Amino acid sequence: MKKLDPVFRSALDSAYAHAISYLENLDETSVAATLDADALRARIATPLSHDGLPADQVIEELVREVDGGLIGSAGGRFFGWVIGGVVPAALAADWLTSAWQQNAALYATSPAAAIVEETVGDWLKDIFGLPQHASFALVTGCQMAHVTGLAAGRHALLAKRDWDVEAKGLFGAPPIRILSSNVRHASFERAVRVLGLGHANVIDLPVDAENRLVPRALAAELAKAPDAPAIVLLQAGDINTGAYDEFETLVPIAKEYGAWVHVDGAFGLWAAASERRKHFLKGIELCDSWATDGHKWLNVPFDCGFAFVADSDAHRASLSVRASYLTHASTARDEMDWNPEWSRRSRMFATYAALKQLGRRGVAELVDRCCDHAHSIVMRIGELEGAEVLWEPTINQGLVRFPSPAPSATDADHDRHTDAVIAAIQKTGEAFFGGTTWRGRRAMRVSVCNWQTSEADVERVVAAARKAILSSS
Ligand SMILES: *Cc1c(COP(=O)(O)O)cnc(C)c1O
Repeated sequence: MKKLDPVFRSALDSAYAHAISYLENLDETSVAATLDADALRARIATPLSHDGLPADQVIEELVREVDGGLIGSAGGRFFGWVIGGVVPAALAADWLTSAWQQNAALYATSPAAAIVEETVGDWLKDIFGLPQHASFALVTGCQMAHVTGLAAGRHALLAKRDWDVEAKGLFGAPPIRILSSNVRHASFERAVRVLGLGHANVIDLPVDAENRLVPRALAAELAKAPDAPAIVLLQAGDINTGAYDEFETLVPIAKEYGAWVHVDGAFGLWAAASERRKHFLKGIELCDSWATDGHKWLNVPFDCGFAFVADSDAHRASLSVRASYLTHASTARDEMDWNPEWSRRSRMFATYAALKQLGRRGVAELVDRCCDHAHSIVMRIGELEGAEVLWEPTINQGLVRFPSPAPSATDADHDRHTDAVIAAIQKTGEAFFGGTTWRGRRAMRVSVCNWQTSEADVERVVAAARKAILSSS
């Protein structure tokens, strides 16, 4: 055995020690960044050296340079956007992934990665209750999962009309109609844009009081052009409220018109793992493509998303590639045939490790725990003087507002006050929540995705909110 170069070893030792110490100190560290862009630039944006530096010194300096500019999203008191933490086996597997440096492009470039990925795909379909014949892709996130699902949809809809979109593009193709509720995530529109479908072509349909696409509106819109190719986006977990469209009712309507039904389930698809919450996903297996994330609710490292497609031929036709220098396998799955990427990170190892660590029960408990904590945080902050609940969580997302205490305050004052309280909470360093505009009003989003969030964290963040409301009044 050849010993690792001492500087190489010392760089890894140093990274290991700093990683442990970072995780051990999360409880005492501000969950918001404490330095601004100028302060960070002053440290980091130095001229690139000519001669380079020893690897271990680089790591020591990097750790010092980023200190104060990291956000506590690895820990249990972070509730901004929709960001997960990292379960231990996934973090450790991710370290190995970098050491192994496998290119998960083909079976030939890493046989183990290909087989682990096959296995992960089967496990995930099983957890989500998707058809076992569905094909899948491990991509960088839900954004690229949308691109993957919609590329397959575009292929299938146009192939049925004798149009080879891979060869001819969309120039002269029958126009595809795109229908969705008006509360979709913007990543869907970007996928539509990238695929040449044009986001101005997305037709907005109304939602009911529960934020669910109104079935009558979908039927009426489809009936306007019954023979046109159509993509219908349904949501499994709205970004602000966690609302689910009613698949069981909506998919049959879409199918009547031969539409392709794509699901944005970035985090919401994971409710399928929970006995208490899987009822939200009734009928989910009837859809055509599904997009979700690993780096949110499964708590694997960035970046990791999953796409599934019921019509595996359409999926493969839309993305597969052949080139003279590639070696294609006959006994296993070449990842490149199913992904928009060419060379890729072997992100299946971390996913495999997370699922193995948690098991079915662990995934269910992770989901239920986050939902229960989201409910406590929203309801307990909402009970405070100077706060009100806008959306009581049904899963792991909820909304709170902080009305201005000023007499005769206007809606604009309430909006400003809400933003001021959100900023004041961040300033305590005790908790991190983000803001949003929901039904025309500013609100604080409570999004709980981290496996580490505990009862003690809930107490701490409620106390921080109480303090922030008082200091802002
Ligand atoms: C986060 C999110 C996305 C985008 O996912 P990425 O993993 O960031 O690409 C899409 N839809 C919803 C509902 C999301 O929460």
